[in-house]
Amino acid sequence: MIDERMGDQWMELEDRYTCGVYRKQPVVMVRGEGVRVWDTEGREYVDCATGHGVVLLGHAHPAVVAAIQEQAHRLITCPETLYNDRRAELEAELVSLAPWAERVFLCNSGTEAVEAALKFARLVTRRPGIIAARNGFHGRTMGALSATWRPEYRRPFEPLVPGFTHVPYNHPGALEEAIGPDTAAVILEVVQGEGGVYVGDGAYLRRAQELCRQYGALFIVDEIQTGLGRTGRMLACDHHGLEPDMVCLAKGIAGGVPMGAVLLGPRVGKLPPAAHGSTFGGNPLACAAALATLRTLREQKLPERAAELGAFFLSRLREVRSPLIREVRGLGLMAGVELRRKARPYLRALLQRGVLALTAGPIVLRFLPPLVIAQEELEWVVQKLEEALAETSLSEDGDDG
Ligand code: PLP
Repeated sequence: MIDERMGDQWMELEDRYTCGVYRKQPVVMVRGEGVRVWDTEGREYVDCATGHGVVLLGHAHPAVVAAIQEQAHRLITCPETLYNDRRAELEAELVSLAPWAERVFLCNSGTEAVEAALKFARLVTRRPGIIAARNGFHGRTMGALSATWRPEYRRPFEPLVPGFTHVPYNHPGALEEAIGPDTAAVILEVVQGEGGVYVGDGAYLRRAQELCRQYGALFIVDEIQTGLGRTGRMLACDHHGLEPDMVCLAKGIAGGVPMGAVLLGPRVGKLPPAAHGSTFGGNPLACAAALATLRTLREQKLPERAAELGAFFLSRLREVRSPLIREVRGLGLMAGVELRRKARPYLRALLQRGVLALTAGPIVLRFLPPLVIAQEELEWVVQKLEEALAETSLSEDGDDG
């Protein structure tokens, strides 16, 4: 029988055996429902971290739970070398997300979706060059990491994949200079999430697409964090009328079950057999969870809700009077509060007040609440942030542990 009040023991056990690559918050989470999660001590938290932006519908959404249970009884695994009913349904549903999308590749995570998109770009164009943006984040496998900007993530693993160039974000001139006949693809986020919640300018993103067309390169939009309603549209591309050649999706796509996907447009077309693959890609369990998630997002008009609540949240965050705040940025329910100090101590102060949040780089606090959060709950989060920022005992250097 597990003693629910033994948080310290679980932390000790994990600290002893985990590989160590994660900086952990000192709580042991055991249950989630809707917007809230609970730790071993029974303390309740409003989840604005949502497993790095995964939980769009809230924890344990009944439609997702029922879909997983039903599918687990029927068929959990089935490789893509065989057909499957749930997968067929999901593929059609995913392609219907964007008028330009024709096909889809299914995988198991964000970095795999990016990795696939980069490979497809080279395969189709037979060119080596990939252009990505400074401050961009695309994942941690060798190809995706080569597109990721942050030197701390890259340096220990060099040499990375050759052919990658990074240009300043929101700077059309720099892209015009960098793109050329060797460019296979340009990969950009609509809002740079991990890099600091920098909102892309519509004219810049449209220019990037235009330059890709002009040079015969493919335009890849990484919507792993912005996708599926978070920014107030089903795809953040829809804010700007973008029609990329590939869109990468993951995180919340299957209600918390690991899944990634790449939407493919006509310039990618149908790919040759054996060009790429994945044992677990398109497994029926994840497909059933994704179908339930996408249908719920649509039926409950959650992107529209994210647009309304996001506007409220951002305007309330902008009203917070604190000398520590440099800027509030965001789109929909994707919000960043840039501080004049390190953000991690304030993450801890928020945790102590019952709010789970994230950082985005060293000085930005990031909030990615579920799209089902209530306005009153967002108001409560703003109050807790005000209290946390007013706490004077936090050291300037920050608790980076
Ligand atoms: N791309 C973006 C924009 C992301 O935000 C992330 C994860 O935070 C990734 C790619 C990598 O996704 P994953 O952690 O599922 O590999």
